[in-house]
Amino acid sequence: MFQGMNFAPAQLPGELEALRREVREFLNAETDWHPNSDFNAGASPEFSKRFAAKGWIGMTWPKAYGGGGRSFLERYVITEELLAAGAPVGCHWIADRQSGPLLLKFGTEAQKQAFLPGIISGESFYSIGMSEPDTGSDLASIRTSAVQVPGGWCLNGSKIWTSNAHLNHFMVTLVRTAPATDNRHEGMSQFIVPIHADGVTVRGIDNLAGEQDFNQIFFDDVFIPDDHVVGEPGNGWAQVMSELAYERSGPERFLSAFRVLAEFGKSLQNGATESQARLYGQLVAHLVVLRRMSISIASLLEEGLMPDTEAALIKDLGNSYERLVPEVVRLYLPGQVPKGLAQALEECVLHAPSFTLRGGTREILRGMIARGLGLR
Ligand SMILES: Cc1cc2nc3c(=O)[nH]c(=O)nc-3n(C[C@H](O)[C@H](O)[C@H](O)COP(=O)(O)OP(=O)(O)OC[C@H]3O[C@@H](n4cnc5c(N)ncnc54)[C@H](O)[C@@H]3O)c2cc1C
Repeated sequence: MFQGMNFAPAQLPGELEALRREVREFLNAETDWHPNSDFNAGASPEFSKRFAAKGWIGMTWPKAYGGGGRSFLERYVITEELLAAGAPVGCHWIADRQSGPLLLKFGTEAQKQAFLPGIISGESFYSIGMSEPDTGSDLASIRTSAVQVPGGWCLNGSKIWTSNAHLNHFMVTLVRTAPATDNRHEGMSQFIVPIHADGVTVRGIDNLAGEQDFNQIFFDDVFIPDDHVVGEPGNGWAQVMSELAYERSGPERFLSAFRVLAEFGKSLQNGATESQARLYGQLVAHLVVLRRMSISIASLLEEGLMPDTEAALIKDLGNSYERLVPEVVRLYLPGQVPKGLAQALEECVLHAPSFTLRGGTREILRGMIARGLGLR
């Protein structure tokens, strides 16, 4: 049966503008980075530490664990300002967006006490260990596995496309801990793997732009103590699915090409042809609609809901938009292309193919949307 989606109109409260000004002032004072056209591309441990000192990592988490106890809408304002500025957020991004919330939801009390403070202070950085060399979309067929040994687990296997693992400290890793049964989703667990543990090897992979932003990781008899198993052994599938809702719903799923749009707009300030002005207007209007849908999702998260289908839809529409922007802007460039626009375009063109792959491909998202709507 066809089921609808919930995109109730929502607005950011006016009082959040003071916070927006505060973030902009902080970013304006930060000078030692070059604005990125992709949130995944820039990473600076020093930036993350200064950002954390403002209380902006873990800002929605309970104060009892050192979090800020603030709202998802406040976090939304900060997130979009970081992305619009192209700030080097790569070190703390994953921990703030999903590893911390995962631990808050499923972790033991001891894990919350042990791992959350380092994230909040901008000193512990996390990677996502889901994809494997033969397993991306079909995550349930992972082969990385662990067997029980005294005091913990012995881990073997390999993960791939692991963003920023060469800069990070921990990796929340999906592992098979019991043989597969007819129910492929049973028998998986999530481990907090210290990336510098004995038996872990990190091998860099160059992306299209020739930068190392992801890696292949090898586990050779890595000992994982029992207290590094997130939640209950065997509950990995349910946990990883809840993590993906955080991964898919944020403004990073439609703002990756924002610098191209902003630089294109700047380049038209001293005169634009009718077709340039029309294109710019269309792209801005499209962005405004995506933003309103995304704010609606942030409001649902604020209410404690898990809008998985809506998050998949905004990611699919947003990723398509991010890929469209560099493709069409380069057809309507001004005669003299300003340096800022040239740089943003060059970077974006090389990163854009990954926008519709990372965090779940277009085809997978469309399958989820169809299922969420009761169409399959
Ligand atoms: C920049 C970048 C960063 C990444 N970072 C991480 C990370 O930090 N951690 C991590 O774990 N992973 C990461 N990934 C991996 C990413 O999640 C996977 O690439 C993605 O899930 C697709 O998996 P795959 O590459 O194995 O492709 P496959 O699953 O082999 O898919 C190949 C093609 O087949 C299509 N396809 C597959 N199954 C179906 C189906 N059932 N129906 C229709 N079409 C289908 C896909 O849509 C795709 O077009 C990253 C990827 C990129 C590009």
